[in-house]
Amino acid sequence: MSKAFLGLGSNVGDRLRHLRRGVQALRRVGEILRVSGLYETEPVGGPPQGLYLNAVLELQTDLTVFRLLQGLQAIEEAEGRERTVRFGPRTLDLDILWWNGETMRSDMLTVPHPRAHERRFVLEPWSEVWPDGSLGGRSLASWLQTVGTGGVRRLEGPGWVAVAVP
Ligand code: ATP
Ligand code: MG
Ligand code: MG
Repeated sequence: MSKAFLGLGSNVGDRLRHLRRGVQALRRVGEILRVSGLYETEPVGGPPQGLYLNAVLELQTDLTVFRLLQGLQAIEEAEGRERTVRFGPRTLDLDILWWNGETMRSDMLTVPHPRAHERRFVLEPWSEVWPDGSLGGRSLASWLQTVGTGGVRRLEGPGWVAVAVP
């Protein structure tokens, strides 16, 4: 049994629906232990693009980390994700932020996610589901103090996930 933290994001189409459908699909991949509130955030990097909705959740799964990555990419595709511009707009992004506290690096997969610690749109929701969490020997709370304070707004609590969508 493994534990992962996943980062979710969407800034194209019905953003909330993409996130909710993503979570529904993840229930077939493992057990969702905790879900953060819902955040609206300004895009970081990439071309000019619309605001994101972001959240973080904790997943328990029997899959290997590579099978999990495959599963996440299949869910992204089912939501119509197209990969054209790096850091460009997307219907659904599912990233593995953390996997059993392990460190690994390959072309396909780097964990912990190499940019998580510098992104407020990740750190804020992540701290909500893992308040005493740490990354690279440093608490999430202290990482949060190293990133800019703007661009992230909490819209609502974890109840957003309880709404079923077709
Ligand atoms: P970022 O990784 O900066 O958040 P992104 O999410 O927009 O950027 P994607 O286009 O979703 O990037 O993914 C590009 C590639 O990143 C994927 O094909 C995947 O193999 C690789 N990748 C490496 N590490 C991870 C990880 N921890 N989680 C998800 N994908 C990863
Ligand atoms: Mg990403
Ligand atoms: Mg991604």
